[in-house]
Amino acid sequence: MTNDIFIFAEQRNDKLHPAALQIVTPAKALAEKTGGQVVACVIGDAIDNAATAIDKAGVERIITISDPSLAMYSALRYRTALTAAVQKVDPKVTLLPATFMGRDLSPRVAVRTKAALATDVIELQINDGGALDVVRPIYNGKATCHVTLPADRPAIASVRPNTFAAPSGAGGAQREALSFEPASGDERIDVKEIAKTGGDIKDVTEADIIVSGGRALKNEDNFKILFDLAKELDAAVGASRAACDAGYQPHTRQVGLTGKTVTPKLYFAFGISGAIQHMAGMRGSKVIVAVNTDPEAPMFRVADYGIVADLFKVVPLLTAEIKKLER
Ligand SMILES: Cc1cc2nc3c(=O)[nH]c(=O)nc-3n(C[C@H](O)[C@H](O)[C@H](O)COP(=O)(O)OP(=O)(O)OC[C@H]3O[C@@H](n4cnc5c(N)ncnc54)[C@H](O)[C@@H]3O)c2cc1C
Repeated sequence: MTNDIFIFAEQRNDKLHPAALQIVTPAKALAEKTGGQVVACVIGDAIDNAATAIDKAGVERIITISDPSLAMYSALRYRTALTAAVQKVDPKVTLLPATFMGRDLSPRVAVRTKAALATDVIELQINDGGALDVVRPIYNGKATCHVTLPADRPAIASVRPNTFAAPSGAGGAQREALSFEPASGDERIDVKEIAKTGGDIKDVTEADIIVSGGRALKNEDNFKILFDLAKELDAAVGASRAACDAGYQPHTRQVGLTGKTVTPKLYFAFGISGAIQHMAGMRGSKVIVAVNTDPEAPMFRVADYGIVADLFKVVPLLTAEIKKLER
């Protein structure tokens, strides 16, 4: 086992997932303690731009595995490819983003490499005994659990997106291409198409601006005014759990404890009361704007700007004003 810290640099269509950049930050901190290098692995077909993006985050070595059969994510093929890269580097710690892909891959690679695994972690450090100590939320975030992984075997951890800020670096990492050798049985899953939900609207974990709506929207059709505003701002549309449970929006847009954690530059909360479970997912936003008819709504306590008003009046006005600015 080397002292290196290995990261899985998740990409789709040659675009790096923001959470892949974010995990470079804890990887660098761990490498400083172990004295090893940060090694990134990019898997896919055409992946030059993704490899360049991870290089600029300041990793020291990049392994690319490029093959037409890896153009779309397949759990088995990606597991085989990533396992080969991990075995080649033999790192002390492997980090993956706890995205859908990372959560799917991490246990598969842990089994293949006989590594100890901790999922969805929010803090990581190498303790004085040389073991990986992590903190992970449990019971829907009501408690946190401190876990020490054994020091005598490799460790794998998936890291919750938007927990760390992405770093910047100088680039110029050493690059190495590894050829893809499929394992027998990998063809059991053949991905034909990856269906996109939500059309052109971004995912809440990837957007700089989020326009979120709560129960006050009353139905799915009324969310259209939020989508219109989001389009003008190049923003993602989010929702409270009450809105998702009522079927106004899919749970993929849910922000909060049991939804997604987000840290955008600007977060709009339209008709969202500000329950602690919702705030757990968006409190890290840089600027929060709350619009609510109830002046006592808890969301106003964390908001940088608050408007006590009917969202059905405010949202179209805001959209119209932003359209004017663009002209
Ligand atoms: C274990 C657990 C996990 C949970 N996880 C999550 C989670 O991940 N995410 C989450 O969001 N919730 C979560 N919840 C639910 C949470 O407790 C709240 O019930 C939920 O966030 C409320 O959603 P809401 O603010 O949209 O609805 P409400 O609390 O009903 O608030 C609606 C708000 O809209 C305002 N309003 C009404 N009409 C208008 C109008 N025309 N214009 C402007 N404002 C208006 C009202 O004044 C009110 O403040 C969880 C709960 C539990 C127990």
